[in-house]
Amino acid sequence: MLPPSTMALVAPESRVPYPRRIFCNRNLRLDRIRHVGFDMDYTLAIYEETMEHLQAEMVLERLAERYGYPAAVLGVKYQPGFAIRGLAVDTAHGNVFKMDSHRFVGRVWHGAGPLDRESRKRIYTNRKLSPADPSIVMVDTIFSLPEISLYCQLVDLLEHGGEPRAHAPHANGAGDGMHVIAHADGSAPHVAQIHTDGRHVSYERLWRELREAMDELHRDGTLKARILADVPRYIQRDPNLAETLHRFRSSGKRLFLLTNSEPHYTEAVMRHLLHGEHHAYPTWNDYFDLAITSARKPMFFASEEPFREVKEDGTIGHEPVTALRRGVLYTGGNFQELSRLAGLIGDDVLYVGDHIYGDILRSKRSTSWRTAMVIPEMERELELTIKMATEIRELERLEEMAFQLELDRNALALDKIRNVELNAQLKELNVRAQALETTIANDFNPAWGQIFRDRAELSAFGAQVEDYACVYTSRVTNFRSYSPSFYFRSPRDRMAHEIAR
Ligand code: IMP
Ligand code: MG
Repeated sequence: MLPPSTMALVAPESRVPYPRRIFCNRNLRLDRIRHVGFDMDYTLAIYEETMEHLQAEMVLERLAERYGYPAAVLGVKYQPGFAIRGLAVDTAHGNVFKMDSHRFVGRVWHGAGPLDRESRKRIYTNRKLSPADPSIVMVDTIFSLPEISLYCQLVDLLEHGGEPRAHAPHANGAGDGMHVIAHADGSAPHVAQIHTDGRHVSYERLWRELREAMDELHRDGTLKARILADVPRYIQRDPNLAETLHRFRSSGKRLFLLTNSEPHYTEAVMRHLLHGEHHAYPTWNDYFDLAITSARKPMFFASEEPFREVKEDGTIGHEPVTALRRGVLYTGGNFQELSRLAGLIGDDVLYVGDHIYGDILRSKRSTSWRTAMVIPEMERELELTIKMATEIRELERLEEMAFQLELDRNALALDKIRNVELNAQLKELNVRAQALETTIANDFNPAWGQIFRDRAELSAFGAQVEDYACVYTSRVTNFRSYSPSFYFRSPRDRMAHEIAR
């Protein structure tokens, strides 16, 4: 342990504030990084909540107009803040749930409230979910949060015969207009058929059509047309972005953009983020040595798709691309070709993205790129951690007391009277700890608790961040507060036996 004087050379307020820190899972020396790549959506471009409302409004319209859902779906009022990343949808039962790092089910939601105890126990207790189960869908992009929320709201609406109703914990049993059929083996209801406009829609079909409608909105350009009509309404402009990129460049790093968004959309969004922000960079393109659009990540990392040049008039060239030039937009491409043409070695690249599967997991698995994950939700999560510090410390104290008491009870196993006393104390401690844990979790999100945690375990999302992101932080511009040669060191990993208690 260093003496206190060595530990705090500057006042705490001069250090990077906790919600703006960069956290490290695997040591990363920024001075060894020569290329920094950026994803665009939800990494450089952070969307406003208006984007979620727009997605919700447009997808409900599409369900009513093209998929034959009753007009009542248009009355569903989207609830921002309900869903968090890392949730899973059980499309067979119409439930949404959170999983821990061992793939056991935590909190479960059905319609307007938590799934009733009986059903929860019957469907999920002691069931470790298999990643191969086709009825379970993991949701890990911020773009898909509105779908999760709407799925629950639509299950509720349609189970109740299309009548909007006040939100209340889910009642056990079938509501009006809900048709329930039994399992093939005659056991408790499994697939509820939901009555909509004379049709029957299973939970599975509702999810499939909702997903399909949202997918279409992204692909056919209708969603993006609405955003482009008023970019500042939907996308934040972080005043520190230009400076952050400039600092990287000034230390000799080369920057590239690698996004799945189409060229015309990328152009408009990047212009909004960077145009006129820094005298040394007249256009957004000047910050980057390379800009690749419609990259089709995660396939980009394994495919052999050729690069194509986007011409001045926006058309796509057909000539083979033999060199990647600065100031030109490209589409498609693949990892091998990028490495060859741009001279990327592998661990000299840091890729900054927001999507575990598309940006982080695949780039780590298929390449030796180092990864930085942007998790915008963390800012609020860390602010709440500071606000709840007293409660969190108290919870740790109660848990430690319970642990010690268990050891004592074990040592006094033969003393019957003492044992009864200790049992009662232990029970009371556990009740208090559980109540406090629930209070803390509900402050983060009343339906799901913290995003990285599921009671004493890491959540499945938290475990993935730990496994795949070398470093993670709430926004790209947090790099501005660190030297471009900073050495990020991970905390020492400890096994249970290494903690002396
Ligand atoms: P990136 O994060 O910059 O790589 O880009 C994400 C792109 O994926 C954006 O253009 C989104 O519109 C698009 N996107 C997000 N969700 C979906 C979907 O469900 N289907 C198709 N495209 C999507
Ligand atoms: Mg993204």
